[in-house]
Amino acid sequence: MRLCRERIPTVMHEEPKMKGLLVSVLAVGTAVAAWMFVDGTSPSNRRKVPGSVFTLVKEGRVRADIVIPAMPLDCERYAADELKHHIDKAFGVSIEIVKEDKKKLQRYPYHIFVGATAAAKAINLPGRKLKKNEWIVKTFGNGLYLMGRDSDIKYKDIGNIWNPTIYATIYAAYDFLEKELGVKWIWPGPTGEVIPKRNHLELVKIDRTGIEPLEERILHGTAPWGMPKIGFSNEDAAARFYAGQNKFLVRHRVGRRRRTKSGHAFEKWWKRFGSTHPEYFNELPGGKRCPASVGALVTLCVSEPGVWKQAVADWKVWWENVGSKNGFEPWVNSCENDYVSLCQCKRCRSWDEPDPRFAKNRYWNGSMSFDDLMALRKERGVYGLNAMLSPNRWGIPKDDPRKRQLPSIADRYARFYNEVQKEARKVNPAARVVGYGYVNYLEPPKKTKLDPSVVIEYVPRSYFPYDREESEYFRTCFLGWKNAGAKEFTYRPNFMLAGGNYPFDQGRLILEDFAFAYTNGMTACAFDSLRGSWACHAMMDYALIRAFRDPLHGYERAREELLSAFGSAREEVAKYFDGIYAYTTKWAFDDFHKISWQNSTGGNHGGGSYHNCAAILGEYFDEKFFTENYRLLDSAKKAANGDKEVVARIEFLRKGLRDAELTRRTRIAEKAMKAAPDDKAKAAAFDAAFKAMNDYRASVENEFVCNFRYEARSELRMKWPHKENVTAVKPAANKKSLEY
Ligand SMILES: [Zn+2]
Repeated sequence: MRLCRERIPTVMHEEPKMKGLLVSVLAVGTAVAAWMFVDGTSPSNRRKVPGSVFTLVKEGRVRADIVIPAMPLDCERYAADELKHHIDKAFGVSIEIVKEDKKKLQRYPYHIFVGATAAAKAINLPGRKLKKNEWIVKTFGNGLYLMGRDSDIKYKDIGNIWNPTIYATIYAAYDFLEKELGVKWIWPGPTGEVIPKRNHLELVKIDRTGIEPLEERILHGTAPWGMPKIGFSNEDAAARFYAGQNKFLVRHRVGRRRRTKSGHAFEKWWKRFGSTHPEYFNELPGGKRCPASVGALVTLCVSEPGVWKQAVADWKVWWENVGSKNGFEPWVNSCENDYVSLCQCKRCRSWDEPDPRFAKNRYWNGSMSFDDLMALRKERGVYGLNAMLSPNRWGIPKDDPRKRQLPSIADRYARFYNEVQKEARKVNPAARVVGYGYVNYLEPPKKTKLDPSVVIEYVPRSYFPYDREESEYFRTCFLGWKNAGAKEFTYRPNFMLAGGNYPFDQGRLILEDFAFAYTNGMTACAFDSLRGSWACHAMMDYALIRAFRDPLHGYERAREELLSAFGSAREEVAKYFDGIYAYTTKWAFDDFHKISWQNSTGGNHGGGSYHNCAAILGEYFDEKFFTENYRLLDSAKKAANGDKEVVARIEFLRKGLRDAELTRRTRIAEKAMKAAPDDKAKAAAFDAAFKAMNDYRASVENEFVCNFRYEARSELRMKWPHKENVTAVKPAANKKSLEY
């Protein structure tokens, strides 16, 4: 018999400190309390739990099996595999998974019925049509029933967030694992699995249901599609990383229950209508109607009735041939192209509410000629005007956008959405317009009231630092759109692009504002981007991903959960994480801006932006930062008292820190080399630093420390000499699955 090594969950339940340890589990949904026995006393003293109805493991011996339907769906198999994985680890056993078959069912006195089993049907479960993403956890007779609304999605596609993720039997399994076994997942891979050890578990009556609060819970950047084959030493390592990350995200229910179409909707319009319908497009200085940049980035003359009619005519064709046949919501995608909106025509301008900033802005007050525009484009590149006319801070722009005179043209966009909504409703009463609150229509409409059917996809201006001022700006704008009549929002930030592969945490305000968005109409979120810097962003990423399925969960509770994975090293590890938080949030925009533009690598954004994260590392950190944090991790390791799991988690954090340190050294060597182009020793020093960094990454690439592919892509844009790995095989990219 294995030793009873008790590690009791400390966050899901505030367990009373008493003999026998009865732990209250508050059920979500149909709030029925359950009790579970997590007895740490010696088996000889064990008494049966009052009201116990189900024994999973009795003094180290498995008393139940996992029963899946005779013809299981792949998601039911996935749920069973996940149950087995965690139960085996928790109890040191090997629980059996069996297909529903009466002869086999006699082997154990209890059964965990997973999915749509005949046993469930026999007791009238679920008894009604479950909603998408809805699940049930229920004890009855000698069974524990874990089931939810499912679909016949393939095993390998579980976690593909581009299609609806309808497999709530998996969610029921996770709910059981979290609430009754105290399991937590703090990052991808084995060291991130927190599975309390025990040798006995009885359950009393459980009867609860639940549903994910958000319709869509999306992180972009979760797949390797479109990335060069760099950063990992071979494709197997890359595939392993993405699979582990994927599983982690499924465990946190990242996914969606509805299929919607949004994103820049008019990218093909210039090609289609540039010569036949110039009136569809923005009027630029000099009366020209054409792209200020490239065709796909042209913006519309949104007050033009032909535009509304064309948008709805396009939608009608799509809806009849594609949308309605493939489970899409009847949303009319009216999200503008990816550019600051430019139409200066009289009608569009008459739709704008007065704003003194129009007169102070060179573009809007008529001081810029068409030639000026073209010169600016030449000088600043494709997105040159964007940087000048919008408050975006998705990188570090040269001019502080807070100091610019940037009038908002949100009233014209609100009217545009209303007009398209009116047209669309004629075609289909259920049609709903989705449009952005974005770039120079991020600040809310002043006067126009939105049609209540319109969904606003809100894209905050922020990047780094995400400070109180940014938070206030976001809240004012978001609330403004709500007050203008928006009932439903998709929240679509870009600030998770910040932070590179180095220790970073600006999570507190992000979490506060996430909760704010939820209480004010957010029904979906889509964050760009998941960097996958798991070791260095552990706290921020865990807190955010945890909030996806409980938007009011908050940073502090998530912090406690994560720290509870460090046993007796908790206090020391808390110092490490709190230090990172303090270090990140001490940066004011002006200070960061300074080191950013000292390290410009070209373009509209300074160093430390998402495409050149590593550029600022020489100045952002000093040597002391690393020595002090290694020291903290050393003392944490000491405090772990030899607990192997805790030590492995501390070492995981150290690996992220080491990667950041080596990346910083590479950057410093690169700058020295560039400062002395004829100095061969400096060039050799850079080569050596770059090699040391890559060698180190290869040595830890199977441990989910960081998405090295993502980081290498950013470094490649800085012209660091990453080479495609020679063993590269074509990833199983499926372009179709990227469409949504
Ligand atoms: Zn116009």
